[in-house]
Amino acid sequence: MTGRILVVDDVATNRIVMKVKLSVAYYEVIQADCGEDALRKAKSERPDLILLDVLMPDMSGVTVCEKLKADPDTADIPVILITAMADKDSKMKGLEKGADDFLTKPVDEIALLARVRSLLRARDTQRELRLREETCAELGFAEGATAFEGPGRIALVAPDGPTAVVWKHALEGKRAGKVEIVPREHALAEFGTRDAPDVFVISADLASRNDGLRLLSDLRSRPVTRHAATLMILPSGDAERAAIALDLGAGDILYEPLDADELAVRIKTQLRRKRQSDRLRSTVDAGLELAVTDSLTGLHNRRYALHHLDRMLAHRGTSIAVMMLDLDFFKEVNDRHGHAAGDSVLAVVAKRLRAQLRSMDLVARIGGEEFLVAIPDADRTRALEVAERLRLAVGSTPIMVATGAEPISVTMSVGIALSQESEDSAKAILKRADQALYDSKSEGRNLVTMATASAA
Ligand code: GH3
Ligand code: MG
Ligand code: MG
Repeated sequence: MTGRILVVDDVATNRIVMKVKLSVAYYEVIQADCGEDALRKAKSERPDLILLDVLMPDMSGVTVCEKLKADPDTADIPVILITAMADKDSKMKGLEKGADDFLTKPVDEIALLARVRSLLRARDTQRELRLREETCAELGFAEGATAFEGPGRIALVAPDGPTAVVWKHALEGKRAGKVEIVPREHALAEFGTRDAPDVFVISADLASRNDGLRLLSDLRSRPVTRHAATLMILPSGDAERAAIALDLGAGDILYEPLDADELAVRIKTQLRRKRQSDRLRSTVDAGLELAVTDSLTGLHNRRYALHHLDRMLAHRGTSIAVMMLDLDFFKEVNDRHGHAAGDSVLAVVAKRLRAQLRSMDLVARIGGEEFLVAIPDADRTRALEVAERLRLAVGSTPIMVATGAEPISVTMSVGIALSQESEDSAKAILKRADQALYDSKSEGRNLVTMATASAA
């Protein structure tokens, strides 16, 4: 994953040490040497993440964090506070002012990098949500009022009954949400879509060592619980497994002995993020949905896709892969099986495409049997890999349109273009993707072709 990180510290040596740690993982590093400088650079450079020293001569890092979060231009940038003193007061103050984490010097490299990866993922989701809201506003639809959501549901999965009760007591009166104790064996089986918890708090070790980590993987592989946020509880100082938990998809981690205030404030952050990504997935309200979605497939329509692609290109941090996909010989499918069967095939194809992509990727039906996919943060290798996966998802399994009916095989041709600095409009990049698609067709179909860079 690529990303630009702003490192703020008044001591040059500290900045350099941090820069070395981050450069190993290929992050681009920008530096600021005081609070004022940090605020200025956060606004002008729009980094993807900020590592912020707490003790600085001109302004405390906590104050800087507060100011960043109060400015809409910088409010979405994740902040990690870094300090030499690990006292509870400044830590709580930082978390309450919107910091995403608090690390103590000397900073453990593995823990730092895992945390950075996890925050960058969360930030991508948030950025995409904002872009979609803007596209909708531009198309003349205000975001529908968000439904009243009620308190969040928090599930506690502790190693044993008494520990669970201690956790639950700790959260009482902290207004974290509706807290329930969930035995390990119920965590996977118990819930339907309507009553799934928003946040799971899980101990890394349950009946056996690492059982909580296994549970985390299982929860994330099931449709009902996949989108729940998870807070993993680890033995004091277990940075190595903290990194594993974050990479497995835990939204946050916390060490024993549990501090009730910290647990509550971290749960609230997870809940807030979870609700944002819920909104992102459910897209907008029903009225808007009609205007920007295609009724046959439920995907976004052409009008939305072109507007949104322009916006993605204007706000891109990294390169975007744009793909044009077209079903091969689809006219024959209609001729052989009838138009209604053809419609069903299109709906299934749409579903297969959606299933292969992340919530932040754009997928739209832009013509009869033509689809558009746009993937942020994709280089050439990744774009080819995704396109190939999409091609196989459509072509490798025949489609059953009705019980008893003959399964229908279709293949799909794909053209890819990567965004480039010199070219900014959706129109220009689509033209190149279209040309690549045409090449796939003339080379025999059921193929993926990458467009050459434009001469400009
Ligand atoms: P190729 O792209 O491989 O060159 O061949 P093709 O047969 O897919 O291409 P062409 O663009 O000539 O035909 C597209 C066909 O897709 C025409 C039409 O019968 C069918 N089609 C377009 N929209 C719909 C739709 O909404 N429902 C159904 N059932 N068929 C559609
Ligand atoms: Mg076609
Ligand atoms: Mg066509």
